[in-house]
Amino acid sequence: MKRRDLLKMATLAPCTSFILGTHKTHALTPRATTARRRRVRPTDAGWPSKESWQSLNAAVDGNLIEVRPLLAPCALQSDSPACVDVMQHLRNPFYLGDQAGGTQVSGWLDAWTPAPSAYAIRARGAADVVAGVNFARTNNLRLVVKGTGHSYLGTSNAADSLLIWTRAMSAVRLEDAFVPTGCSGTVAPVSAVTAETGAVSIDLYDAVTNRAGRYVQAGGCTDTGVAGLVQSGGFGSFSKGFGTAAANLLEAEVVTADGLVRTANACLNPDLFWALKGGGGGTFGVITRVTLQTHELPNRFGGASMKIKAQSDAAFARLIARFVSFYHSSLFNSHWGEQVKLGPDNTLEVSMASQGLDRAQLDDVWRPFAHWLEASPQDFTLMRPLFIYAIPPQRYWDVENNPSMIHDARAGSPKHHCWWSGDQDQVGAYIHGYESLWLPASLLEPYAQPRLAKALFAASRFKQLSLHMNKGLAGATPQARAAARQTAMNPAVVDAFTLVIIADGEGSAYPGLPRPPIDLKTAHADARAIGLAAAELRKIAPDAGSYVSESNYFNPSWQRAYWGSNYERLCIIKKKYDPEGLFFVHHGVGSEGWSADGFTPI
Ligand SMILES: Cc1cc2nc3c(=O)[nH]c(=O)nc-3n(C[C@H](O)[C@H](O)[C@H](O)COP(=O)(O)OP(=O)(O)OC[C@H]3O[C@@H](n4cnc5c(N)ncnc54)[C@H](O)[C@@H]3O)c2cc1C
Repeated sequence: MKRRDLLKMATLAPCTSFILGTHKTHALTPRATTARRRRVRPTDAGWPSKESWQSLNAAVDGNLIEVRPLLAPCALQSDSPACVDVMQHLRNPFYLGDQAGGTQVSGWLDAWTPAPSAYAIRARGAADVVAGVNFARTNNLRLVVKGTGHSYLGTSNAADSLLIWTRAMSAVRLEDAFVPTGCSGTVAPVSAVTAETGAVSIDLYDAVTNRAGRYVQAGGCTDTGVAGLVQSGGFGSFSKGFGTAAANLLEAEVVTADGLVRTANACLNPDLFWALKGGGGGTFGVITRVTLQTHELPNRFGGASMKIKAQSDAAFARLIARFVSFYHSSLFNSHWGEQVKLGPDNTLEVSMASQGLDRAQLDDVWRPFAHWLEASPQDFTLMRPLFIYAIPPQRYWDVENNPSMIHDARAGSPKHHCWWSGDQDQVGAYIHGYESLWLPASLLEPYAQPRLAKALFAASRFKQLSLHMNKGLAGATPQARAAARQTAMNPAVVDAFTLVIIADGEGSAYPGLPRPPIDLKTAHADARAIGLAAAELRKIAPDAGSYVSESNYFNPSWQRAYWGSNYERLCIIKKKYDPEGLFFVHHGVGSEGWSADGFTPI
């Protein structure tokens, strides 16, 4: 480790000093210190007896299930109906979310492999969650929480654990005049939506936009779970207009490690409320319900897409420089989100989404860039010409009228359950490597643009870069930026114009899936190339933060990268609500106090 890195680490007190009470500068809520013990596995003498499990099962009305690996039916018989069923649906993200042993990615090279919990509670309400939390605490079990399993880092999956699985809790209700509990008389009522914790983004968009003509900030990926999203931060395509999901949280119901059902909002348990807004999933308790603010719907949603190939490295460098300048002058505002990709094959691919702009306005925005390209046919080929559209918002998430969406065709599945065809490759993917960095908007200033363009070009020599413009809030509305400052996310998100994601992998590699072995040499080469690409960007953004839920599993300074200056406060809140560390996730707040698998205190 370089000296500079050591110095950076030195300024950040490790969470263990708060958890264990050795940090000198903070008076912590006094609590009886309970010795943290190694958690038990099914092979240990201390594992609960059959009778204990039976009584837990009775307490949750028969909703305790033994969890099997996703491909377990195929290990028994490859032509059994159960095996045929799982193979048929392996590329359906809603199916994966509906399996107790399901994960949305099928693992990560040298990091984690899907491994089912010993048992899961298919929770139907807060009472089931309380039963699970109390059982795990009193029996010293490794506890894990899952909504739909959209964790790249594998944080909703742990072998030999008890899983609290919230997918079945998915009711959504609109609120005309919501006032958080305990805030009566201090805040004005607002329009809102209340969702049980297993609801996914498209459930919210369907209820709020399609049916009620309003807007709610959920995820871009339609099947991301609402509780995971809020605790990550949570970006959708239009986050520059409406902020993060976390910043829109008005209230959460949460079961904490002591088994209490608490309400968290600006008036009740405000410290917990703040921590739930971006402090990381599976860390502070089990959320059972959230209420998010809703907004007036803009007149149009739309977007622009195209793919350009430059004929030489020099032409590509020129194209990047021109796009950076065009982005700064024309797209760097609250209307535009989503992505631009820069590839080692000298391609620039635009897949941008807009809100609040009609077709004529979109044409005006893109015309100068299109003309610039047309002026140099010898340098640039349009692999896909510019396509611009603007539609009424209620058609955006309407699967019947949107050919870019794939419907969950299983019998009985809700009509609105669909995913973007562009997200199909992510379903069940196996990850070779992954990095993400927030780039500060200061790099867009005209004097800095040449440095930015040069670094983007240099990084793109190693791997494709995806610039997610909606995942940085510079250029967003003042309200969206101010609200994000009131969350636990790394404050760098407010001043970043983009989150650059550099990732690669391959198709599904679930344990037990019949397929050729992973080519480890290629996979490791991919991981190295991703690291080299990120290193080029760190030259211009040495302290770049990273989005907790879309980030590098191996990030050595994750505390600073995910939460920046908020980390210390998060540690104090963790200590207050979970002093024994019942809730553990990889690189979550307080995880320094545990072995990598979360079983052994260190
Ligand atoms: C394919 C894919 C697409 C994605 N798209 C987006 C996107 O568009 N925008 C974005 O911002 N992020 C995105 N993410 C990141 C994703 O939003 C986060 O990982 C989010 O936490 C997912 O929540 P989940 O319930 O779907 O997943 P899970 O894996 O079930 O949960 C994620 C984390 O939250 C915890 N958790 C889940 N439910 C609860 C609960 N009720 N109480 C307490 N903790 C809980 C879990 O323990 C786990 O640590 C994506 C991830 C993937 C894999």
